[in-house]
Amino acid sequence: MTQLLDLEQLLSDPVVAALARAEETAWFSQSPTPSAAAIEASGIDPAITADARARFGRFAPWFAERFPDTRPTHGILESPLVGIPEMQRELGTRFGRELPGKLWLKRDDLLPVSGSIKARGGIHEVLQVAERIAMDAGMMTPADDARVLMAPGVKELFAQHGIAVGSTGNLGLSIGIVASELGFKTTVHMSLDARAWKKDLLRSRGVTVVEHDGDFSDAVAAGRRTAAEDPGVWFVDDESSLSLFAGYSAAGDRLAGQLASLEVTVDQTHPLIVHLPCGVGGGPGGVTFGLKQAFGDAVHAIFAEPVNAPCMSLGVRTGLHDSISVTDIGLDGVTAADGLAVGRPSRLVGEHLQQMIDGFVTLTDERMKAFQGLLHNIEGIDIEPSAAAGFAGPWRILQNAAYRSAFGLDDEKMANATHIVWATGGSMVPLQEMASYVAEGQRLATEISWA
Ligand SMILES: *Cc1c(COP(=O)(O)O)cnc(C)c1O
Repeated sequence: MTQLLDLEQLLSDPVVAALARAEETAWFSQSPTPSAAAIEASGIDPAITADARARFGRFAPWFAERFPDTRPTHGILESPLVGIPEMQRELGTRFGRELPGKLWLKRDDLLPVSGSIKARGGIHEVLQVAERIAMDAGMMTPADDARVLMAPGVKELFAQHGIAVGSTGNLGLSIGIVASELGFKTTVHMSLDARAWKKDLLRSRGVTVVEHDGDFSDAVAAGRRTAAEDPGVWFVDDESSLSLFAGYSAAGDRLAGQLASLEVTVDQTHPLIVHLPCGVGGGPGGVTFGLKQAFGDAVHAIFAEPVNAPCMSLGVRTGLHDSISVTDIGLDGVTAADGLAVGRPSRLVGEHLQQMIDGFVTLTDERMKAFQGLLHNIEGIDIEPSAAAGFAGPWRILQNAAYRSAFGLDDEKMANATHIVWATGGSMVPLQEMASYVAEGQRLATEISWA
């Protein structure tokens, strides 16, 4: 009964009501929280970011040795940042409004090892677990680089330990590939929507894939349960892991270096606006935490979600965080957007990071696919549909004068703005599957309404 009353009250908020109708929505923070205060309020120690970077540094020689696709960066896992002026122009025409400033694409679809943003967080947690076990066993010291883990004996040590994760696919890929390479017994619990090729790829690397009938939360819960029964198994918890979060956050300083090398200025009169696809929230949340440390108040973070699975938007808007699921407002959580089919948000991100998130945008699967098709046609870049979710945000900001004025984004600053759409995955999608995404996206680009 109280549940029902609460729901009525929640739906009296027009944003929540629009989310419940699976409409495309956009809402923005009323006023900015200074980034230093927001970092403080998060209760998360910024030192975890530098610690993660140092860990990636220790493992760089190991990656260069074990994963040939990391050799061009000597083992550092990083992705290119590319300008997409033709796409900017095309979308300006479609939306009937030219976007001031410059539009860029952050190509995490090209991240080595696992081809998605999960190569930041998921891999970091595996490295942290490996270091801890090796150091406890006296097989590694903090001064060593991680090639010592290739010594005979270490693989046997790791074979006695398990790593488990629940995933819609991409997190399972990144963790499974690296954990199995290190020699861990690795189990990935997959939700129903996970793609067959991801399961096949993991099995080919000796990973145990357990399929579950339910959604992402069910897969996570099942993984958590089985790991809890076995103290020798480390469970990577996508809903609350600080280690995952730390790995994602290392992107902040890296992006600062990339922008500097491209002579792109970011400061109080040259804003940086970053558009991040959001599933459970760890990826975009961690990246935002890193960006705030790197750029302070000059950076704005906007999260993008599918209309059928707007868990972060719903959790933050209602203040209920992981106590509310999209099913509570009548949504089915089903979306073609891999990695974004999540019904309940991470509390770590929703509750602790909400003051760093400037805006929340939802969009239909059809629009994501249309962006993806256009990107193929116009820039010759192929990403997965979920990875294109960030393209809606820049134009949503253009429509929202109240937000721009509250955040001081006047015409001059908008003309100086750097807009980054964070493309979160795609390079591991099999060619045939990508071709069918592209064909559908091209068709939808001509069919959907751009008004
Ligand atoms: C996981 C994922 C995201 C979002 O990350 P979360 O941590 O789940 O919010 C975005 N895009 C792709 C392609 C992903 O795999």
